[in-house]
Amino acid sequence: SENAPSRRRVLLKLSGEVFGGGSVGVDPATVRGIADQIAAVRDQVEVSVVVGGGNFFRGAELSKAGMDRARADYMGMLGTVMNCLALQDFLEQAEQPTRVQTAIHMAQVAEPYIPLRAIRHMEKGRVVIFGAGAGMPYFSTDTVCAQRALEVGADMVLMAKSGVDGVYTADPRQDPTAQKLDHLTYGDALRRDIRVMDQTAMTMCNDNNLNMRVFGMEGEGNVTRALLGEEIGTLVTP
Ligand code: UDP
Repeated sequence: SENAPSRRRVLLKLSGEVFGGGSVGVDPATVRGIADQIAAVRDQVEVSVVVGGGNFFRGAELSKAGMDRARADYMGMLGTVMNCLALQDFLEQAEQPTRVQTAIHMAQVAEPYIPLRAIRHMEKGRVVIFGAGAGMPYFSTDTVCAQRALEVGADMVLMAKSGVDGVYTADPRQDPTAQKLDHLTYGDALRRDIRVMDQTAMTMCNDNNLNMRVFGMEGEGNVTRALLGEEIGTLVTP
């Protein structure tokens, strides 16, 4: 109801690699698994999702291959929208109401990004899926994640990672002595060049007092656990 006590509100970042299951395009079984885990916390947490697009195109890579950077970035943003629609479909199949809001107008498939409306959707129990990044070339979906979380008043950012279960002292895939950290600050991450999200995004979280939890997708029920506030993975704070 209008006066219900406020629930936890979180913003989940799903990068493109999560959708592709490691390759180009969308892996329906993987997306269904994530959608089911989000639908499982219905009524307990208000959820919005920022969706990446690296499983289709990354502007920087296309630009290295000779394309105009801004146009390549728009291709990257359009790729995120396909991921949004896939996630929306499997959420709706799991009987979780959703809305997609995009930063580039595309009226047949999504609402425009309207922050107050996004908040209202969450209050009504809808999952809001943010697509097309910031609508601006030269930005990343990580930066958008920090910006949207701040604007819709999320309590924290949850960064779902593929192939790694938190932040390590070094890349665990390359350095067997790497150790997992339970906690670090954005300052630590920036100083030690730990790329849990891009630097612009970390600076924005740091400056605006926004916490972030970095966790691995792979563990059974991990998305649900993170959404419910379990202390899995690594907590990053100002
Ligand atoms: N992008 C952009 N502006 C934005 C967000 C994304 O130009 O605000 C483009 C950029 O080219 C980026 C691509 O969309 O490479 C896909 O997003 P991102 O790489 O952040 O996705 P992820 O790494 O999370 O899969």
